[in-house]
Amino acid sequence: MSKAYMSIQEAMQYCKAHTVFLVHTDNGPDLWTNGRKMPMPLRRAIFKHREQLATMMQAGDKQLCPARDLHFLHWCWNGEREVCELCEQVEDSMTAQDNHRSA
Ligand SMILES: [Zn+2]
Repeated sequence: MSKAYMSIQEAMQYCKAHTVFLVHTDNGPDLWTNGRKMPMPLRRAIFKHREQLATMMQAGDKQLCPARDLHFLHWCWNGEREVCELCEQVEDSMTAQDNHRSA
């Protein structure tokens, strides 16, 4: 891949094909890769488009769900807004991992 970074659509397609998904971090959206190495154009794309991706995540965009086929079937209220339960579980597991790391 010769391009410096992927477009959002390319990044989404890559994530879907490789079962990678985006999570919220203190620094904005980041890839949850389960320890796998991701190509630099993908990483750059996430960084470059992070504001748009953050907006998509806030809006509950189906393309960013870890279980896209089930997205919109599992809505719950998290105290602030309606969220997809599956998307929310990813964030919860991330938070838990962070807690383990810093403990
Ligand atoms: Zn979802």
